[in-house]
Amino acid sequence: MISEKPRVRFAPSPTGYLHIGGLRTALYNFLFAKQTGGSFVLRIEDTDRARLVEGAAENLIATLEWAGLHFDEGPGREGDFGPYTQSERLSIYSEHTDKLIKNRDAYYCFCTKERLDALRDEQRSRGEQTLYDKHCLNLTDEEVKRSIAEGKPFVIRLNVKHGKKVKIHDLIRGVVEFDTSLIDDQVLIKSDGFPTYHLANVVDDHLMKITHTIRGEEWLPSTPKHVLLYESFGWEVPQFAHLPLLLNPDRSKLSKRQGDVAVEDYRAKGYLKEALINFIALLGWNAGDDREFYYMDELIKSFSIERINKSGAVFNLEKLDWLNAEHLRAKSDEELARLLREELNATGCAGNSYEEAFLVKVVQSMKERVKFIKEIPVNAGYFFTSPSEYEEKGVQKAWKEDTPALLKGYISKLNALSEPTKEGYENALRSTAEEAGVGAGKLIHPVRLAISGVSSGPGLFDIIDALGKEETIRRINSAIEKLAVKQ
Ligand code: GLU
Repeated sequence: MISEKPRVRFAPSPTGYLHIGGLRTALYNFLFAKQTGGSFVLRIEDTDRARLVEGAAENLIATLEWAGLHFDEGPGREGDFGPYTQSERLSIYSEHTDKLIKNRDAYYCFCTKERLDALRDEQRSRGEQTLYDKHCLNLTDEEVKRSIAEGKPFVIRLNVKHGKKVKIHDLIRGVVEFDTSLIDDQVLIKSDGFPTYHLANVVDDHLMKITHTIRGEEWLPSTPKHVLLYESFGWEVPQFAHLPLLLNPDRSKLSKRQGDVAVEDYRAKGYLKEALINFIALLGWNAGDDREFYYMDELIKSFSIERINKSGAVFNLEKLDWLNAEHLRAKSDEELARLLREELNATGCAGNSYEEAFLVKVVQSMKERVKFIKEIPVNAGYFFTSPSEYEEKGVQKAWKEDTPALLKGYISKLNALSEPTKEGYENALRSTAEEAGVGAGKLIHPVRLAISGVSSGPGLFDIIDALGKEETIRRINSAIEKLAVKQ
């Protein structure tokens, strides 16, 4: 037998943002495809016209691309099995439903909403499962034709043969059995002519030659209907893997109420994609050891469906923050400088006006002190704008009568420095203090205050080195002027 390369798909409905659980489904599919040399397909499932949100599909694609989950085939990246957007495949679904109708595996149903509601109420009042009663199954071809000609609205239903068992071999859960007597005659084509998720999903998974259907646990109850459809068409059933639910720390289902669930929110908050991917990968999977830090290429090597857990995965934000800091520190200073420049540009702070060497020095002094790049301009804005105010408490503590004279002494030494270096700045300060017969602290604190406006932060000589000699002198002079007026 020729062993075929796996083909997997991520099949989101464009009903809004990309949910963090959706990103995990996409990631696991992607990892599996990359590891096995298979294909990762993106299919947009937009047949529920009522829930459609304009721009959601484009947004989904942009978010996947941002996260590095590049698909091999999908909208705008056509392969041999397109189109990859379901609303462009309507004729394919109706052709397939015709086949089912011919074999009596599906049938037209003209029941009105009133009848269906009454039926449901009756069944409920008897404490029974609410199932369609196959009322329209026995309509003759003539009756069907007449009703269609009369323009009666209709749906097409799957004819579920009750009293059978459907067995699913799930790669994560093992064998799961369902009783067909509890399965409704699922609507396959709705009255608006669009297929339901169930029909379109099965037809497309088959036609797109999907070998493994990897999706969230919430789809497990739908799977027996899908298996019945595969059987009705006479098609081979793909392998199934249903991923565990994502849970809040209190083990309730991850929901908007308890925090962010949209990938975009995490992106906007400044999480690195590497950290988010690393974190998401561990929501339901581990390699069997306690390793937590992974890059994408390492995940591709280590991932395995067999090691996905059955039980729900708790979403622990602290771990995500920790991973973000770890990934941040693992980056080169040049990469961090690039991210800082992007952040400055995005927040209207003219990132492009800064020299690379300056930004590198900023990130070198700040990277151990932050978890997010965006904290740098917030916590250390003095790198980018000279202080207009000085922290009151710091001034009271550090600014003494002899401070202006000491600072002026330091300025002359700075001016005399031929090769300004970090060591040079430090030696100049220490010798100024020594010559004045005072401790270095009498200069260190006011200099920090003068150039940053605050009394804590990264190493003083790191800040001076980043700002440069001229700017440092300018700021010290300005502080002498402003604080002299105050006193
Ligand atoms: N369109 C479904 C969703 O929105 C796809 C489920 C599946 O992967 O079969 O998640």
